[in-house]
Amino acid sequence: MSTKPIRTRFAPSPTGRMHIGNARSALYPFLLARRLGGTFILRIEDTDQKRYEPGAEQELIDGLHWLGLNYDEGPDIGGPHGPYRQTERRAIYHEHAWKLVEQNNAFPCFCTSERLANVRQEQLKNKQNPRYDGLCRALTPEEARQRVDGGDKYVIRFKMPKEGSITTTDLLRGSITTENSALDDTVLLKSDGLPTYHLAAMVDDHEMEITHVIRGSEWLPSMPLHIHVIRAFGWDEPVFAHLSVFLKPSGKGKMSKRDRADAMKDGYSIFLGDMKDLGYTPEGVLNWIALMGWGVAEDDVMTLDQMITRFGIDHLTPSPAAINFQKLDHFNATHIRLFSTEDLAGRIKPYFTREGLNVNDEVLLKIVPLLRERLVTLDDCLSFGSFFFKDDVTPVLEDLIAKGLDAGQSAEIAQRTYEILAAQPDISHERCEPPLRAYVEESGLNANQVFGILRVATTGQKVSPPLFESMEIIGREKCLARIKTSVEILKKI
Ligand code: GLU
Repeated sequence: MSTKPIRTRFAPSPTGRMHIGNARSALYPFLLARRLGGTFILRIEDTDQKRYEPGAEQELIDGLHWLGLNYDEGPDIGGPHGPYRQTERRAIYHEHAWKLVEQNNAFPCFCTSERLANVRQEQLKNKQNPRYDGLCRALTPEEARQRVDGGDKYVIRFKMPKEGSITTTDLLRGSITTENSALDDTVLLKSDGLPTYHLAAMVDDHEMEITHVIRGSEWLPSMPLHIHVIRAFGWDEPVFAHLSVFLKPSGKGKMSKRDRADAMKDGYSIFLGDMKDLGYTPEGVLNWIALMGWGVAEDDVMTLDQMITRFGIDHLTPSPAAINFQKLDHFNATHIRLFSTEDLAGRIKPYFTREGLNVNDEVLLKIVPLLRERLVTLDDCLSFGSFFFKDDVTPVLEDLIAKGLDAGQSAEIAQRTYEILAAQPDISHERCEPPLRAYVEESGLNANQVFGILRVATTGQKVSPPLFESMEIIGREKCLARIKTSVEILKKI
């Protein structure tokens, strides 16, 4: 058992928007580090210049902060093992690649892409697995050196042993032995001088003293190469855990970013930025993704702190997880119910102001208890509660006409409720409900008809938080004015 301090990392490539796969790849190493008093690092793997997207790094950083997955070392905050952005570490990779060449574990290769394409085509024609054919592997170190010094363009390839086999261990899947003859002389350093993932990540995990590598299962096939590289340097191997893949909601096929449009149609998204706009909370999102690959009960509701206490890396499971957005809704709604009134008020306020509404904080605090149970996403506060912050509401005529009655009869009811309420010194729940109920009794109408009209008149909508509590918050003046407007609307036809 190693006694090294625990160090884990999230090592995203800034090639697109931050999605739930990234979030989960950050969450587990974060939990492991926090559980065991270790250090959690953010490392930006930006060596693939073709796929690089400006803005992606900031989105990743913002996403981590939003989720509360704060890192101890990273590109924006520094740390003892920096720089934490791979393009700023070129010299380190260069030096390591050449070290492997000197040790005879790697070789410079001068083959052009045309030549490589031809070799590949030939191999495919002969039903062979495409791989490097070894032309430059046969050069003597002196010949190779001369060509490099002469300015020939080159890459550095790993010199895969021709014989023997390698056994690698994934914490979730156990050991796998691979024949070296099945492995390629993979490129470690590209002709632009930047490393491939295979070199950069191994060097950095070593230099940054990473003890546990938790990463996506797409890296499982290259693990034998990675272990070869690590052993060629004579380094200790970190523990490797490859996370399960996400499946589409249908369970059929791997979830891809292209499925975004489909999800958005239903009001869902796999991108963190969208999820925030759609009214999902970090707590709900974290709880949802935590359980996709962590073998705790499917409906366990946990805050981040509770996850830290319960997390164990050996609880992770390799089975694919189907994305289930209904579960996301469930966790989001559940966490919203757990927020304090002040906390929830602060979280829904931006959704009102985003709509241009002028939010009175006192009113906001009063409506939170009325809304809380009705919210699945934070932006649901708009459909249930915008009317609290509007000067006027604009009820639709059809909504004002109670079931089984016509406009004239509905106008009369509205007028009568107006008179009843106008006779009250205030429109507190206690004061208003008894006379209105008495009116329902004596008129022979049913409560839904009367209160339905009143609801639409005062809130402008057919569905609202409890009527009397809502009217009390709207206030006497506004309620009376709104009912009067409705009477006029109903009388107009
Ligand atoms: N940059 C790699 C990716 O985004 C990181 C894999 C890893 O965690 O090592 O897929």
